Amino acid sequence: KITSGELTIRENISGYLDNIKSKNGDINALISFDENYIETQVKVLEEKLSNGDTNGKLFGVPIIIKDNINIKGTKTTCGSKILESYQSVYDATVIEKLVAEGCIILGKSNMDEFAMGSSNETSYYGNVKNPLDTDRVPGGSSGGSAAAVAAGMAPIALGSDTGGSIRQPAANCGVVGLKPTYGRVSRFGLVAFASSLDQIGTFTSNVEDTAYVLEVISGYDAKDSTSVEKDVDAYSDFEIKDLSTVKVGMPKEFFAEGLNPEVRKVIDAKIETIKAKGCEVVEVSLPHSDYAVSAYYILATAEASSNLSRYDGVKFGYRSEKTNNLTEMYTNTKEEGFGEEVKRRIMLGTYVLSAGYYDAYFLKAQKVRTLVKKDFSDAFDKVDVIISPVTPDLPFKFGEKSDDPLAMYLEDIYTISTNLAGIPGMSIPVGNIGDLSVGIQLLGNHFDEKKLLNIAKLIEEE
Ligand code: GLN
Repeated sequence: KITSGELTIRENISGYLDNIKSKNGDINALISFDENYIETQVKVLEEKLSNGDTNGKLFGVPIIIKDNINIKGTKTTCGSKILESYQSVYDATVIEKLVAEGCIILGKSNMDEFAMGSSNETSYYGNVKNPLDTDRVPGGSSGGSAAAVAAGMAPIALGSDTGGSIRQPAANCGVVGLKPTYGRVSRFGLVAFASSLDQIGTFTSNVEDTAYVLEVISGYDAKDSTSVEKDVDAYSDFEIKDLSTVKVGMPKEFFAEGLNPEVRKVIDAKIETIKAKGCEVVEVSLPHSDYAVSAYYILATAEASSNLSRYDGVKFGYRSEKTNNLTEMYTNTKEEGFGEEVKRRIMLGTYVLSAGYYDAYFLKAQKVRTLVKKDFSDAFDKVDVIISPVTPDLPFKFGEKSDDPLAMYLEDIYTISTNLAGIPGMSIPVGNIGDLSVGIQLLGNHFDEKKLLNIAKLIEEE
């Protein structure tokens, strides 16, 4: 409609801007929102439009970006005090790609500090509220992005997923979330938390939109050494037309004790619906699932302790005023600049990497990671996709888990193994309990996003 002149770019974004202005004061989904910055982008696109240059798969489409993805000349806080004044000096590859296709960036979204958390309660910039029930958490760490899409502040948002940070908030807020295969989307310009697990992914309100955005942000990038040289499939070309040719696996370990029976009922009902459409649903086993959370919290914290050592008061952002000497400057900067959860993880990560404990913890966790990965490849020998809950429970109330890190860590019990294995995963909404939404998780084999999205769309249609 924009390229044919039926709709102006301003008309296209105005409803989203209205929602930001009327709702963000309460929801707190955005950390940065600058109308001058939006105006500059709109003018560039209007100029292109008047020159007939409307090439761009997302021409005039607004988007919100998680505040751990760099956009040149704008603030990137990572939800932390330590980066409160930090201005990015370059664009992340995903930003270059989105802008090249005509996207308009409306703002940067709130998040758990350095993407560590499952509730958005660790952000220095305050809690994000779940738009479906403002007494409850939106999930995390990409809670701002999920809440923004759920509240109609943008049709698309980017997030990052290290252990579930896209899928869990997507489920909590009733939107679609995708974490691509590790290496599918460039991490260049994503502030590192745990580099071997981090992936940028998307939030949208439906599966088809996810496919369009993934086509734009995927692909090899020489600037990210973990990016994979592999062609990008036509994700929006949904070739599988019905579920009767599809085989789905239910991991028995994910449908066991600990899953809220109400949540289970909604998921079971959906599984019955797809079975009635001829979809074959079989039980599969992921025998090492029990160890995934433990392995993750060793590997992720180890990598975080290394990645976060750069915030020393010299190179980026905040520096403590209390600096009589260099050591004191380092110490006080970190003491004042980082929140409690980040400090906990740096200490844990430093411990598991230390000489006396490396073999007992870090090395052992790497071995467990290999076993988790093998569980998935065995399962994908038998089925096209895996179906499971996203979270063990409905979104919880603020404060319910923030004093108990272990309870918080168990939020990711169904999502974390995906990151250890590097496979793609999605969360799509499948039903409601009261005002709250229930999601299901769909997992695919490495680089099998096309099939994953296609099956997700068929399930969404049911
Ligand atoms: N909730 C998990 C954690 O706290 C996952 C975070 C993420 O995926 N970024 O580490």
